[in-house]
Amino acid sequence: MGMTPEEFYAHALTGADAEGRLPVPDQAGWEIFPFEAGSLQVKPLEPPSLPEPPRNGEGGQPCSRCAEPERGVVWGNDRWVLTRFATPPGVPFIAMLMPREHLDLGELDEAMAAEMGVLLVRLERAVRGLPGIGRVHINRWGDGGAHLHLFAIGRPAGLMQLRGSNLALWDDLLPPLPEHVYAADLATVAAAM
Ligand SMILES: [Zn+2]
Repeated sequence: MGMTPEEFYAHALTGADAEGRLPVPDQAGWEIFPFEAGSLQVKPLEPPSLPEPPRNGEGGQPCSRCAEPERGVVWGNDRWVLTRFATPPGVPFIAMLMPREHLDLGELDEAMAAEMGVLLVRLERAVRGLPGIGRVHINRWGDGGAHLHLFAIGRPAGLMQLRGSNLALWDDLLPPLPEHVYAADLATVAAAM
């Protein structure tokens, strides 16, 4: 049945204090959480913003990907590209798999969806084969841009604090990789695609 956005917001506030702040989660005590629990205050939860503002590439907004279709491409075929970040990441590897055509996940036809599956498995396998990678996470958020972009994020082997969904946050905390290391690993992964 679901809840309306207003109903969900009212429900969420039942867990918050008078300022609308939810409590610091139990996860703040886990070793994978990047910050010390005592230093944290959760932001007041803002009410729903509806209709939602358009993402990059929808609702009349130009798509930055389609404007520069070769930007950062390290591998491609007629339908898909693998792209790098302009500056090296903090984690040992990040790349994004994207369709060349302006499509979001739910707009892929079955042939494109099947090819995406094959490419994601190749990508995961290739990144996992790089030296120093403990595991590879495949993520799709899509709140910023309407042009489908799937992230492959490599976790450094042995750094058990970096396990799980906080890896993207740790990426922002870590200093950038040396460019020559990132470039060499991108070339290895591209050759395996
Ligand atoms: Zn696009």
